[in-house]
Amino acid sequence: MTNPLVDPFHRAISYLRVSVTDRCDFRCVYCMAENMTFLPKKELLTLEELDRMCSTFIGLGVEKLRITGGEPLVRKGIMTFFNAMTRHLDSGALKELTLTTNGSQLSRFADQLYAAGVRRVNISLDTLDEEKFASITRWGRLRQVMDGIDAAQRAGLRVKINTVALKGVNEDELFTLVDWCAERGLDLTFIEVMPMGDIGNENRLDQYWKLTDLRERLAERHTLTDLAERTGGPARYVRIEETGQKIGFITPLSHNFCESCNRVRLTCTGELYMCLGQEDMADLRAPLRDNPGTDAPLEAAIRAAIARKPKGHDFDYSRQTVAGQMTRHMSHTGG
Ligand code: SAM
Ligand code: SF4
Repeated sequence: MTNPLVDPFHRAISYLRVSVTDRCDFRCVYCMAENMTFLPKKELLTLEELDRMCSTFIGLGVEKLRITGGEPLVRKGIMTFFNAMTRHLDSGALKELTLTTNGSQLSRFADQLYAAGVRRVNISLDTLDEEKFASITRWGRLRQVMDGIDAAQRAGLRVKINTVALKGVNEDELFTLVDWCAERGLDLTFIEVMPMGDIGNENRLDQYWKLTDLRERLAERHTLTDLAERTGGPARYVRIEETGQKIGFITPLSHNFCESCNRVRLTCTGELYMCLGQEDMADLRAPLRDNPGTDAPLEAAIRAAIARKPKGHDFDYSRQTVAGQMTRHMSHTGG
């Protein structure tokens, strides 16, 4: 590898999150409007372009790829892309290939994903209650996701559940969710709801459940030990001493992880966001599409973008206003 990617704050960029589609079979209230207009197909990177893009990043030192969306498993032909990435796992250049999914299609894809070299998946699940699940996801059915989780575990995939903490919605399920994950051998991470997109007239602040409050609630019943483990991302971990379970907390609003941020995000149209909380992005599709014969211009564009990676981000829930509210949806940058 020639000069790996290092940003101006000496952070080596080793983690790329890639959104492979803006579409989804769910319409989660905090993520999408019910009537979404999706991008025309020609705007999307083709599967071949996704391969070229990811391979270029891997050539520049990216060791971990997380595939996301929208819902990555509704992208037509997506297994062609996963299978193409296997060669980078085989060569040792790529250390981990993983995905974040709503779980709805895992019954169909879990075995194929394992065969492609995926070993871990993050599955989003906010509630164990069928009715609540239907109202949060609007179009989703809990049974389908439960079957997906079963299929993933049967296939040998390690499963982490991602739960968005929603005040007044899943607050009462805190211990039920923790216990359920313990029984099934699932890791669990809570995510603070973020001010993304202008979704209807719902105000995300009403549902904002601070994870420090959630943690205090958890500590009323369990002994929690902070773990030093960091992944370069926004997650902090504790161990529940009584069960040995590891619980993660993703608090993107607390400015507590920017210093060690090793990641960038690619949208399904080839825009590279250097920071989840800032609008600055670089178009990588043009240097890719305009130069079918060479990756040099794409490489140069990636390096120029990384040189602009900011030190930190700007969300601010303080003073009870959503300052720094982002106008794009999470389904655009993939979370
Ligand atoms: N469809 C897949 C899924 O749901 O896992 C992958 C894409 S989704 C955008 C990635 C993650 O972002 C999910 O865990 C979802 O719960 C989370 N998410 C979406 N909107 C969010 C918001 N406003 N605040 C916090 N997390 C959000
Ligand atoms: Fe779809 Fe995931 Fe967004 Fe829900 S959070 S609407 S499953 S992309």
